[in-house]
Amino acid sequence: MIVKVEDRGGKRYVIDPVEGPLEIKHGLPGEVRYCTRCVISNQRPSSSVEHENTKESTRNFIEFDKNGVCSACRVAELKHRDIEWEKRSRELVTLCEKYRSRNGHYDCLVPGSGGKDSVYAADVLRKKYGMNPLTVTWAPHMYTDVGWRNFQRWVHKGGFDNYLFTPNGQVHRKLTELAYRNMLHPFQPFVIGQKNFAPKLAAKLNVPLVFYGEHEADYGSPIAESYSTLQDTRFYARSRQSTTDLYFGGVVLSELPKHGISLDHMASYLPADIDDLTKAGVEVHYLGYYLKWVPQECYYYAVEMTGFEANTERTEGTYSKYSSIDDKIDPYHYWTIFTKFGIGRATYDASQEIRNLHIDREEGVALVHKYDGEIPRKYLQDVLEYLDMDEAEFFEIADRFRSPHLWRKSSNIWQLRFQVS
Ligand SMILES: [Zn+2]
Repeated sequence: MIVKVEDRGGKRYVIDPVEGPLEIKHGLPGEVRYCTRCVISNQRPSSSVEHENTKESTRNFIEFDKNGVCSACRVAELKHRDIEWEKRSRELVTLCEKYRSRNGHYDCLVPGSGGKDSVYAADVLRKKYGMNPLTVTWAPHMYTDVGWRNFQRWVHKGGFDNYLFTPNGQVHRKLTELAYRNMLHPFQPFVIGQKNFAPKLAAKLNVPLVFYGEHEADYGSPIAESYSTLQDTRFYARSRQSTTDLYFGGVVLSELPKHGISLDHMASYLPADIDDLTKAGVEVHYLGYYLKWVPQECYYYAVEMTGFEANTERTEGTYSKYSSIDDKIDPYHYWTIFTKFGIGRATYDASQEIRNLHIDREEGVALVHKYDGEIPRKYLQDVLEYLDMDEAEFFEIADRFRSPHLWRKSSNIWQLRFQVS
C-alpha cells in the first residue's frame, strides 16, 4: 500500500481515500508497518530519545531494513548467532581487573530496583567476576507490595549494600502530572532522574565504574550502538552551563516555578556535570554487551538467588508476570505508549520473547491481539490520586494524544486502524 503524506500548515496528514486527511501526531511515520520477524511496528520511538529532556518526547523511530526487519531483531540475530560471547566475557574480565578494589571499597555501582535484571547483574559481577558492587536505587513513584518485597530480598537475601534515593514526593508528583498533561508520558521524570542518578553518584563516591544491564540496542536503538559497551555520555551528562534548554514534563526548566516547583528542588533531576565525570573517570557500561542477556534467564537466576517473587496474576496489558512489577505507575507508562503509538505492553513482551526464541511470531501476534492496550485498573485510584485528577480528566487527556492516522472512533469506542497480523 502506498501512503500519501502531505504537509499542510505545519502539520502532517495521511490522505485516506475514503476519510480524507488524517493528522499524524508526535512526528510518527505516516505509513504503519510491522517487523516481519517480531511484532513491533515502525511507530516505536527509538529508546534513547524517548525520554530526553525535550519538549516533545519523540523524534526518532526504530529502523527497519530493506527486508522489513527491525533493528532490535537484527541485534538479536547477532546475539544468538554471531557474537563471540567467550571473547566478550574475557573483555569483561580485563575491565574488572582494571577497576577491582583490593582494599574493601566498592569498585562498581549497579543501578536497579531489585528486579530480575539488577539482581542478576550485581550477583554475577560479584560471584563470577570478583567485584564488590554497591547497588543503587532511584525509588519508584509508588512501590507495589511485590516490588518492595523483591527490593528487600535483594538487600537481605542477596546480601548487598544498597543506596536508596527517594526524590522529593511533592516535586515528583508535580513533574509526573505535568508530564502526563503535556506529553502523556507519566514516566518521564522517573526515567530522567534514574538515568542521571548513578553517574552522578559514581563521581561523588569515587566509584567510577557503573554497570547497567541490558543494552539499549536490544530494544531498537541504532544497530551501530550494539558494538559499543559504553553508554553515550549525552544520555546522562552535560556541561554545567547548558541546562537552560532542558525540559521537564514538557516545561522548560526556568518556567517550572510557575508550576509550583522551586528550582532549588530540581538538583536531583539535572544531568551529571561532564567535568565532574571526567575528573572522576566515570564510565558507564552495559553488562549486556559482555554477557548474553536473556530476560527470562535473569528471572530464573533471581528466583534462585534471592527468592525473587513474580506476580501471581499476569500484568495488565500483557501476559507476563515478572517484568517491571515494582511501580504502581508502570502499567500506565505502557498504556500511554499504546495510546500515543499504538504499541502496547504485550507487543513489547512478545517482541522480546520472539527475539529470544521463546515464542514464534504467530504466538506473538495472538498474544498482542488478546492483551495489548487493555486498560490497567488495579492501581487506577492510586495513580489518579498521585496525579491529582479524576478519572474523566485522566482519559480525556489521553484521548487528545491519539493520532488520527492510528485511531478511529466508532460507536464511541476507540479502535486502532491497523493491527499486526
Ligand atoms: Zn523485529
